Amino acid sequence: MRAGKSASATSVSKNSGRDPMTCKKTANTSRCNCTYEPCERKGACCACLRYHLESRELPACCFPTGAEATFDRSFEHFARLVADRKI
Ligand code: SF4
Repeated sequence: MRAGKSASATSVSKNSGRDPMTCKKTANTSRCNCTYEPCERKGACCACLRYHLESRELPACCFPTGAEATFDRSFEHFARLVADRKI
């Protein structure tokens, strides 16, 4: 446990003062399938998920390409796709 605490403390100090997602945002964005271009949350997956869950929605990456392009990110849309075995 002691080694884990030490590694964690080092990681935090290296990243202090920066957005904790900065180190992964570029990699996340390269894999993001969202076609809503003006969104500032692209690659910030924690912010993206929080934003959509607050509106009973899921992020773009939960939907296949055609369904994602409708921008209907509702739980109901996702449930229909699952029921129709399109996911
Ligand atoms: S899924 Fe929503 S919050 Fe996430 S990047 Fe796309 S538009 Fe932005």
